[in-house]
Amino acid sequence: MKTFGYAAQSATSPLAPFAFERRALRPNDIAMEVLYCGICHSDLHQARNDWGWSLYPIVPGHEIVGRVTEVGSEVTRYQVGDAVAVGCMVDSCQHCDQCRKGEEQLCREGNTQTYNSRDRLTGDLTFGGYSKHLVVREEFALRVPEGLDLARAAPLLCAGITTYSPLRTWNVGPGSRVGVIGLGGLGHMAVKLAAGMGADVTVLSRTPSKEADALALGADRLLVSTDAEAMAKAQSGFDLIIDTVPVKHDLNPYVPLLDVDGTLVIVGQLGPMEEQNTVPMLIGRRRIAGSPIGGIRETQEMLDFCAKKNILPDCEMIRMEQINHAFERLESADVRYRFVIDMASLQAA
Ligand SMILES: [Zn+2]
Ligand SMILES: [Zn+2]
Repeated sequence: MKTFGYAAQSATSPLAPFAFERRALRPNDIAMEVLYCGICHSDLHQARNDWGWSLYPIVPGHEIVGRVTEVGSEVTRYQVGDAVAVGCMVDSCQHCDQCRKGEEQLCREGNTQTYNSRDRLTGDLTFGGYSKHLVVREEFALRVPEGLDLARAAPLLCAGITTYSPLRTWNVGPGSRVGVIGLGGLGHMAVKLAAGMGADVTVLSRTPSKEADALALGADRLLVSTDAEAMAKAQSGFDLIIDTVPVKHDLNPYVPLLDVDGTLVIVGQLGPMEEQNTVPMLIGRRRIAGSPIGGIRETQEMLDFCAKKNILPDCEMIRMEQINHAFERLESADVRYRFVIDMASLQAA
């Protein structure tokens, strides 16, 4: 299937129109027209090869919402016209212990990423959602529940599940004391989801200027991390802190905020952190953990939860040709809180 999208040809080239082929449908594949695609910070990292594993050309995009246009001969879950979504992965081995548990993101053989990855059967590069059409095996497509706004649902597929999964892993519910560091795409979803689960939510910020935003998103309060007195008072007051900051930073101020057996879970930064003092970890049996996206079953659960609770990201809609400018704004954290590309704006060259 001939299609088109936007690709980076190298770590230094801007995204530009790119025509390419999607594979012919395998028996268990669905084809979809992409209607909306969220812009994740990792799209920018991978387009620029910040992590050193980028394969070019790269068509980013792993927060994808669209409609089924065609189904393979053995597809049972979807029909033409269904609203579907695709997140960060499009395949896994399907037979290891993690896959069998529905934790395909932790596949022992490595999951196949939606872009910047290789198809398990052909070895061809995978291309993401900054494109008009997508082909995916039905097991890795999600159903967009009735009533969830398609235009705003896209960021749930990465920012949503990346923050939902640790909330579920650490059993957050009514009365849980949850802290959120960083109020970007992931952070604002962490606040909404934790509040939706009934938790007591605190946004941790270096400046008091984000207080109104934090409260508007559903947080109970803002704690200014540069206010030594307030930080001392807040010691041992959290069960879970979700750290969404996507760059190297210092965790030392935050670990003492955890209660005994509390966990600080990193979901943003992939790479080194500042030197860590382990004293508060040993003294309070506190943990620093990491968490990726969730499995397919959990992602579907998250979408259904968001539909039921009417939880949606705050989005700024852009046109496809504005992508390079959007990347610049993303880099300076100038977005509230997630860019979404309206793919109707993408026309064949
Ligand atoms: Zn992402
Ligand atoms: Zn597996």
